[in-house]
Amino acid sequence: MYFGSVKFFKHLICTVVIGWFVIATFLAVFFGIKYGLEAKKNKELTVAASADVSQETEENPTEENGKQSLEDYYLLMAADGYTADDIINFISTTEGETAAKFAEAYIEANKEKFADMFKTETAYTGQGSTAIEYTELYPDLYADPPAEFTESEKTVYLTFDDGPSENTLMILDILEKYDIKATFFMSGGESEYTKEIMKKVADAGHTIGIHSISHEYEVIYESVESFLEDMNNTYTCIYEATGVRPQIMRFAGGSINNYNRLVYPQIIAEVTRRGFVYYDWNVSGEDATTHATWTSIYNNVLNGIESNSTDRAIVLLHDSGDKYTTVTTVEDIIIALLDDGYTFAPLDNTVKPITFSYVD
Ligand code: ZN
Repeated sequence: MYFGSVKFFKHLICTVVIGWFVIATFLAVFFGIKYGLEAKKNKELTVAASADVSQETEENPTEENGKQSLEDYYLLMAADGYTADDIINFISTTEGETAAKFAEAYIEANKEKFADMFKTETAYTGQGSTAIEYTELYPDLYADPPAEFTESEKTVYLTFDDGPSENTLMILDILEKYDIKATFFMSGGESEYTKEIMKKVADAGHTIGIHSISHEYEVIYESVESFLEDMNNTYTCIYEATGVRPQIMRFAGGSINNYNRLVYPQIIAEVTRRGFVYYDWNVSGEDATTHATWTSIYNNVLNGIESNSTDRAIVLLHDSGDKYTTVTTVEDIIIALLDDGYTFAPLDNTVKPITFSYVD
């Protein structure tokens, strides 16, 4: 009889054992998938959360933010395509050498954690996972950077921003009278008249640098891309009008201003990568203020030069239709400075820049 026989018990044991294997495998697969999915979901939430934390602390990635936010910061930047070197350079530029050394040491100490994140061949493409690779935009927007900078003593570089204007030809006449070359950081413009004036400035031997064709701070400093668009429009306008490819530039509002605090490190890095040299100023005529007078402009320039710690002065003035007072003052400024033994020179990209400090 089969039931109760040795064969029966053999089959029974086999069935039970196989059954347990089947059930155990099923349970393992079921819970494996269930917890696997949950773990994945949790991980995504964690990444999203650390992205939020990082955005808050991105401006100030120093050790004060603490270990946790630093790690979030590096991971987020790495996820955005920055290399370890990019991050260290960025921190060095915005926060100084000490913070950069700290970042370097931190990344080095956590090498294994960051190993998968940093891809050494990734280019510096900017922030945000949707960032356009702006380094590839405007392939003609490049300059030839000098091998080295020179520093002349007791030299004044007069610079006129925002032109051309109805004052430009008068300024040219004054400069010609004293055989002085200056620099015009031009906004440009599409009209034939504007182009003609630009050509006259270039033909007279003055330097034309890029300023901003729109001069709308909110627009140009919204992102690196919008800055480059404006810069390229200005560059093209100057080149078409004069036949000269500008090599130097001045940022609208200066290289660091209230409108570009979040993007200036990337903008400056990109402009410099393209070979352009940018100039701020160390003396301002303050002629753009509404209450500027002959006396205020004259005193601002002369006192500014006198109180400088260096005898190289890059003087900010404006070539703008409503700044006629500048025209009436500039000749007297030239006379006074020539009397004091100063030489006037135009900027070119070999002149060592005077720029605002990155560190407040
Ligand atoms: Zn301007």
